Formats: sequence, C-alpha cells, structure tokens
Amino acid sequence: MLQLRHRLGAALCVCALAWASPAAVGEGATNEPDDVALLQAMLLAVRGPAGRPYVQFRIDGELGAGTKAALASFQRDRKIVENPLKPEGPTWTALRAALPEQYAGMRVLPGSKIVYFEASVADAAKSIYQIESYAEFEPSFQRQIVAMVQRMFEQHRIVLWITYTGWRRGFSDQTGFSRRNSLAGPGESTHHYGRACDLGFRNFRWMDATGAIREDTDWLDKMNRALGPASWKLWKARDTIAFSLGLYKIAWEGVHLQALEDERISNARSLVKLLEKTGTMKWETKHVNRRAHYWTDLGRGGTMFPVGTAHDIWAGKAPVPPAAGDVTAIRKALREEFEKAEQNWRLWEPVETN
Ligand SMILES: [Zn+2]
Repeated sequence: MLQLRHRLGAALCVCALAWASPAAVGEGATNEPDDVALLQAMLLAVRGPAGRPYVQFRIDGELGAGTKAALASFQRDRKIVENPLKPEGPTWTALRAALPEQYAGMRVLPGSKIVYFEASVADAAKSIYQIESYAEFEPSFQRQIVAMVQRMFEQHRIVLWITYTGWRRGFSDQTGFSRRNSLAGPGESTHHYGRACDLGFRNFRWMDATGAIREDTDWLDKMNRALGPASWKLWKARDTIAFSLGLYKIAWEGVHLQALEDERISNARSLVKLLEKTGTMKWETKHVNRRAHYWTDLGRGGTMFPVGTAHDIWAGKAPVPPAAGDVTAIRKALREEFEKAEQNWRLWEPVETN
C-alpha cells in the first residue's frame, strides 16, 4: 500500500503540470471549447468583491460577449493585463489561487466541456489495492485492470472503481440480469471466470453548467441525464486507455471490460469444454435465435438429447424429451453438472468461435 502511494505520488509532479492544461484563450487564440469551459467554470466559482460570481450564466464552452466581459472584470479587479491568456500566465494563476476550497482541483477533460475535480491519491491507491488483493481475477487480467486504474489516474486524475457487482460472479448471479442487458446465461459470462470486471466512475465529482458540484454513480447516471451523449466522452477516455492495454468491451454494457474479444471467443463452447472437464457427460452447443442451446448424452454415450439453454438448465427446467427417461432426475443431474463446473471455474479455458 505504501509503495503504491509512492508510485502514484511520483506521478503527481507530471500531473501538476498537466493540471494547468488550458491553452491560450482570448483574442487571436484558438479558443478550444475545453479551455473556454474551464475558464467559465472558474469565473463561475470565483467570487468578485461584491461576493457574486463573475459568470452568471450557464457554461457553454463558447467565448461569447458574456465570458469576455466576465474575464475583463476579473482582470480589472486583480489588476492583470493579459490577452490572450497564456497557459501559465497571471490570469490562470490568479483564477486557480482564488478558487474556493470546494472547487480545488478543478480541471477539464481534454476535447470536452466536462469540468470535474481531481480525485485523491489515497482513493487511487485504495482502488488499486482492492483489485490487487482480490484473489479471483485471472492474474494477467488483474495486472491489466490495475494498469488501467493507474493510467486513468495519471492521465486524468480520475479514480475508477470496480462496481459492487463487477467482481467475479457466480452462475446464479447471471440469472438476475435482464435478458435484454445480457444474453449470457449461467456459465456463459466471462465474469464467472475472473476475466471480466465492471469498472465505473463511483464518486466522480463534476460541475454542472450552473456551477453545482455533482457526485456521480459508477454508471455516471447524473451526468448522462444532464449532458446526454456529451457524457460519453468520459467513457471514451476510459476506453482509449483500456484498448491500449489490450482490454475489450462488449456492446451492451458500458462499465464492462474483459480480457477477451467477444467476437472471437465462444462462451458456449468454452462452457462445453469446462463441463466435459469437470463432469461425466458429453456436450454440444449450437445457436438458435442468437441464444446458445445445449445437447448432451447424459453420460450414457450415444444419443445426444436437447436440453435447452443455460438458463433452462440452471433453473431446473431443461426441456428434456420424455424419451430420455425420468425428466425430474435428469434435470437435477444437469444442474449438478453445471454446479461442478462452477466450483471448478479456474479450469475454464477460452474456446474460439467457429
Ligand atoms: Zn460486466
């Protein structure tokens, strides 16, 4: 833990420079929306001599007449003559120094108008420590996730956390998800095998267009409601780092990251391989209407019987044909085969799609 803090602490010096990221702003400058948004946010947070903020309108990232006037009056109050603003010039320095305590660490996500507040080194160390001390991630995936959290913090001073349900999950957990969100049934998610996690933005503090500080959820629900698609830039910032580390996403779950490419790995065929390793039956799988269905010889050799989906089998409702014998006993045996696979999840190996 201490060493971790040290490692992150060393990154601080570099980031202290990145903190002053705003480029030149003003006449003749490029006036990128991110720089302007940060300028507006600061002028909204800082109070003038009359106790009123310099900016009294919603932040929009555009250098219009209102922003120019607010900037001019701040400079007049502080006796600063500077236009355009230089990155390390007196105006930015004075603005930063004048920020009230609750706005300390204010910065903007490059290429966006998202103004937010730096997370602490202690929180970054805590998140990394949680991941490093978790025994149920496959080791190389675990290293990727640690690097992910580290780089996100180094580059953006944002701490990512594994969500409350984002660690390794049991087969039963897969029944709790609506089928719209996840087609994977019990045994069919990389979450079962320590090669997936859900990594979100818990406690992320940002400033809305009115200057109010919002503290968000793992899924950035508040920002999503307030900014709509503009909030996706934060996910994009996360994903850019994830992809550079060889991690993958899946289409329907924003928080989800995994070690394997979904299109290349067959979760159903991988499950079949695991079932055959840990149990006594022979298995086959085929997709029917985008969902994996299973066939098994019930451990008898010879005829393969259709037994439905992983959801069916886990729920004890496998559509076993009566010709197979005592349906109730067979359903129980199928469920037990799945339970054996779950107990021995560390034997799982990815099998490529056909
Ligand atoms: Zn997930």
